[in-house]
Amino acid sequence: MSFPAMGTLFYITLTCSDAAAARVYKAVSDEVRRIESLMSPYNEGSDVYILNSSGTPVKISDETYGILERSVKVSEESGGAFDITFVPLGELWDYKNKNFVPPSESAIKKFLPLVNYRNILFHGNGTVSFSRSGMKIGLGAIAKGYAVERAVKIMKEMNVVSGMADAGGNLKMLGAPRSVGVRHPREDSVICSVVMNGGESVSTSGDYERYVLYRGRRYHHILDPATGSPAEGFVSVSVICSDATAGDAYSTAVFVMGMERANVFLKKHPELAAILIDRSLTIYASASLKGRLAAHSEVVWLE
Ligand code: ADP
Ligand code: MG
Repeated sequence: MSFPAMGTLFYITLTCSDAAAARVYKAVSDEVRRIESLMSPYNEGSDVYILNSSGTPVKISDETYGILERSVKVSEESGGAFDITFVPLGELWDYKNKNFVPPSESAIKKFLPLVNYRNILFHGNGTVSFSRSGMKIGLGAIAKGYAVERAVKIMKEMNVVSGMADAGGNLKMLGAPRSVGVRHPREDSVICSVVMNGGESVSTSGDYERYVLYRGRRYHHILDPATGSPAEGFVSVSVICSDATAGDAYSTAVFVMGMERANVFLKKHPELAAILIDRSLTIYASASLKGRLAAHSEVVWLE
C-alpha cells in the first residue's frame, strides 16, 4: 500500500490478514502524517516552522527536540558534513525554481555564517533557540528515516511478521530477508542489489532525484556546509544499519564527506555498512557486505 507524505511516497508492504492490513495501514499512515505535522517546514503549526519563524526561545515537542539533539550528534561525528542549519543556503540553491541560476560567490559568503549546528541552543525543558538571527533548520535528511523507523515499530506492535516500509530511499525490513535494489544514478535501472535482513534499514542519498540542470551542470539538493555549494564527491551513497533514523542522517553525511573522509568515518563506525558510487560510477562497498551484494560491474571493497 502507498500514500504520499513528507514530499515523497511511502510504501508499506506486509504479510498479514486482509482485515489486519487495513488497520495497520491506517495506523502507519496516521503516524507518518503526525510526524510530518511536527517536522514539516511548510506546515504553519509545526515545531520546525515555529522555531524558524521565531527570534526567541521556543518550546517544541519532546520528539522534535530529540531529533534535533540526534542531528547535532551526527554533525559532531561527521565534522559538520551533516548540518540541519543548511536552510539559508538551501534557499539560495533553489533547484525547484524553473528559472534557476547558481548563486554568486558573494551571496554564498553572506549566508554561510548562518550555517552552523553549534548555534542551535538547547535550553533543556524542550526549549530551543538560535544564537544568530536569520538561522533556519530543515529535517529533510533525517525525518523520513525517523518516520520509517516509527512505521516499522507500529507494524511490529500490530503483530505484522514480515514486510517493509519504504519512503523516498529510506527502507526498513521486517521479518524475512529480501533483496533490495539500489537505483542506477544515471539510468532507469538497478545498479546493484543487496540482501537486507529483518531489522536492517538502508538509506540512499543521491544527486539524481532532486536537482536542476543549468548550462550542462547538475545542481542538486545536498549541500556541503564547508563550501556552501552542492557536495561533489559522490553521486549515490547508501548506508545500511539497524536504525533508519541514523541511516538517513548518515547517508547524507557520508555523501557530503567524499571518498577520503568517508573512508576514515566508516572505519570508525563498524556498525554501518555502505555502498558508495562516485562520479565515474565505480561501486565501492564495505567488506562486511561481501556475499550479500550483487552488481553488474566490479565492486571495490573497502576493508
Ligand atoms: P532525500 O531527502 O532525497 O532522501 P537525503 O536524506 O540525503 O535525501 O536528504 C537531503 C535533504 O537534506 C535535502 O533535500 C535538504 O533538505 C537536506 N540537506 C541538504 N544538505 C544537508 C546537509 N549538509 N546536512 C543536513 N541536511 C541537508
Ligand atoms: Mg538522509
